[in-house]
Amino acid sequence: MTAPARQASAQQSGVPTPRTAAVDDFGQRLLRWFDRHGRQDLPWQRDATPYRVWISEIMLQQTQVAVVVPYFERFMARFPDLATLATAEPDEVLHLWSGLGYYARARNLHRTAQVIVSEHQGRFPEQIEVLETLPGIGRSTAGAILSLALGQHHPILDGNCKRVLARCFAIPGWPGGSAVLRQLWALAEALTPVQRVAAFNQAMMDLGATLCKRSSPACASCPLADCCQALAQDRVRDYPAPKPRKRVPLRAAQVLLVQDQQGQLLLQRRPPAGIWGGLWTPPELDVDADVADWCRSRLQASVLRLEMLPPRRHTFSHFQFEMQPVLVLLASPPARIGDEGDKVWVDPAQPGGLGLPAPIRHILAELAQRAGSE
Ligand code: SF4
Repeated sequence: MTAPARQASAQQSGVPTPRTAAVDDFGQRLLRWFDRHGRQDLPWQRDATPYRVWISEIMLQQTQVAVVVPYFERFMARFPDLATLATAEPDEVLHLWSGLGYYARARNLHRTAQVIVSEHQGRFPEQIEVLETLPGIGRSTAGAILSLALGQHHPILDGNCKRVLARCFAIPGWPGGSAVLRQLWALAEALTPVQRVAAFNQAMMDLGATLCKRSSPACASCPLADCCQALAQDRVRDYPAPKPRKRVPLRAAQVLLVQDQQGQLLLQRRPPAGIWGGLWTPPELDVDADVADWCRSRLQASVLRLEMLPPRRHTFSHFQFEMQPVLVLLASPPARIGDEGDKVWVDPAQPGGLGLPAPIRHILAELAQRAGSE
């Protein structure tokens, strides 16, 4: 749906818009607070081009500012512009993303850069309808890019904004549900001022991140305290409603830390889609599969020693992954499977520029530490 069509639909939808005297100056309160307390010197706010704001917005999804800053600076040093990113090797993009998690974001960034180069003559699209068609860019991200970089009048609705609005206007229900989402977008549209839209949108994100936090919001310091309905009802904890609980399935696997006699570790590249897509991890085996058999059939090598390391659990958005690391020391040189392109033997202390998921990076660091202390 186009932006004007969305506005018309919100007005016709019967969604209540904030027009009480208490909230008419919502924007003014927020902007006054932002001028004194907002974040105005973040790396992507300097020279705020659509490219730089886009990278920062994607990194900031699910990740806090303090974590993002060094990643952003490293990324910009290597990929200062869209053309450089578009021609990069996928591995290098994933390597610079290693540790930020949600790797589909990095794959989408790379794909989007290539689409902009091939279909938009390398010029970052400046129409929201076009931006929203690109991989990994939804309505809120598109609005943030165009408002923060170009001052275009678009509302945003990231997780922080949803929380502030749900509390301030006591909106019941989980913000991920479509009816609640419609209501929140209608509020965001009605509240976003025409003047100083970039400052307003940044202020909404900052307020949610620094005062109206998920737990223990600092209502005493909040510029919206006088008009906040959740606070007035003493029900701040009730908003926003949590996501309806579903049982999170558990997946378990043996993670084979296969080392040759020189201490080199076998890693293989995962398929592009699925969890940790395109990243490098040790081979995985079913929990009840025979490790020695696997080594014989896949590596044509026998096993000198097997050792179970403490299991560990990693939580993905839709399941938990229980990893049972098994240290496997080979008795004989393995078959040369490193020539296939999707497998490598690496020194755990220096895995080089490979894209590694954070839990695997930790396991490699532990192995390197063990080797150093033996
Ligand atoms: S008063 Fe408290 S709950 Fe309400 S918007 Fe401010 S910080 Fe959030």
